[in-house]
Amino acid sequence: MKTVLLGVYSNCAVPESYDVAILGAGPAGAACALALRGAGLRVALLDKAQFPRDKICGDAIPGPALKALRQLDPAYVPELLAGLHPKAETRTSRVVAPNGRDLGVRWHLPTFNSPRLHFDAALLALVKRHTATEILENFTVKTIAGAPDAVTLTAPDGRQLRAGLLIACDANSVAARQLAHRQIDRAHHCAAVRAYYTGVAGADGGTTEFFFLKKYPAGYLWVFPVGGGVSNVGFGMLSKDIAAQGVDLKKTLLELLGTHPQLAARFAGAQLQGPVVGFGLPLGTGRPAHALAGPRWLLCGDAASLIDPLQGHGIDTAVRSGVLAAAQAVACFEAQDFSADYVQQYARAVQARLGPQLARSYRIMRFLGNKPWLVNAGVRLAQVPPIGRWLQRLVG
Ligand SMILES: Cc1cc2nc3c(=O)[nH]c(=O)nc-3n(C[C@H](O)[C@H](O)[C@H](O)COP(=O)(O)OP(=O)(O)OC[C@H]3O[C@@H](n4cnc5c(N)ncnc54)[C@H](O)[C@@H]3O)c2cc1C
Repeated sequence: MKTVLLGVYSNCAVPESYDVAILGAGPAGAACALALRGAGLRVALLDKAQFPRDKICGDAIPGPALKALRQLDPAYVPELLAGLHPKAETRTSRVVAPNGRDLGVRWHLPTFNSPRLHFDAALLALVKRHTATEILENFTVKTIAGAPDAVTLTAPDGRQLRAGLLIACDANSVAARQLAHRQIDRAHHCAAVRAYYTGVAGADGGTTEFFFLKKYPAGYLWVFPVGGGVSNVGFGMLSKDIAAQGVDLKKTLLELLGTHPQLAARFAGAQLQGPVVGFGLPLGTGRPAHALAGPRWLLCGDAASLIDPLQGHGIDTAVRSGVLAAAQAVACFEAQDFSADYVQQYARAVQARLGPQLARSYRIMRFLGNKPWLVNAGVRLAQVPPIGRWLQRLVG
């Protein structure tokens, strides 16, 4: 007799079957589920967490992520924003050069910051409201087995789920390791830590702040308002340089907040809320494009390594790749072709839409990475309006 657990059968019986299993309900997985709305496919969206769940992040929601959601359905973004508290609407950034000189930047697309605890839950609420996706929380995938006719996902407790196509959106990805055999390449990977503070003096609720540092040129420290008087404060660097310099990110963040000439006074009376926590950022370069897809599987978002190397944002590329993966899923089921060759269409689409910007960001990051004097010069030159506009276009 079969035992039903959250709509999935235990390992002593036939596993539940879906057309598409989306692994990971962050922005990539949620966007993919939204993009599959009305496709006529039976879709499961599974996550090891129970939402709302924290996600270590700077909490800056990039404009292109909202644009991609709007293109799926104009109602999504207003609905998302209406249900999202707290949040901070941002239009400007302040960039502080290693020499302390600063620059104000006004962005073209209005955007906002919101703790991922709330943002990701609000995105998942859209999936629940607008789609027939079966959402399976508390389902950790430990192993993934491919076969000619299906992919089988197995949890540590033996629960199993089968799908005709796996769309893997699991950051720190089991799928990338087991299916694409990928390992971390420190030259194309960053690590960062994040803390929440209240009472940061001079924190302007509408401005994100970036501090470039002479001692740590291949990274930056950020102070982002996230609403409700809370600031998301973090520090990240290229993993290769962290290893070479033996940097302890948590210790360094706290030291910088206590000693940086423009931060020490502002943080003297601030209160740390919760622990300082860290996570990896797989950058969108340094892996072969074809490694994003294989027979009956596609990788999206962080699982596909799509983070912008210069600014460290990945919510936008996660959403955009999730949408592209949904289009590929529909094509696979229409053609009844799930072969390694056929799914390369998806890898090529990701490369065409996202590859050039990611490659350019990486080149700029590496070029500026060991030249703090050049960042100083850039910030000074950017005060001249035409040069400032050109530099703004260059960095996105
Ligand atoms: C410190 C830091 C700061 C950042 N700041 C920003 C920023 O300000 N703006 C920005 O745009 N980007 C930022 N990023 C990058 C951004 O967080 C990611 O690019 C984005 O979250 C990727 O979305 P995703 O859907 O691919 O993955 P995630 O949002 O990480 O979602 C993946 C989901 O998969 C689930 N999962 C993982 N493994 C399993 C498993 N084995 N079984 C079941 N479920 C699983 C997880 O529980 C999770 O819910 C930052 C990253 C870091 C580390």
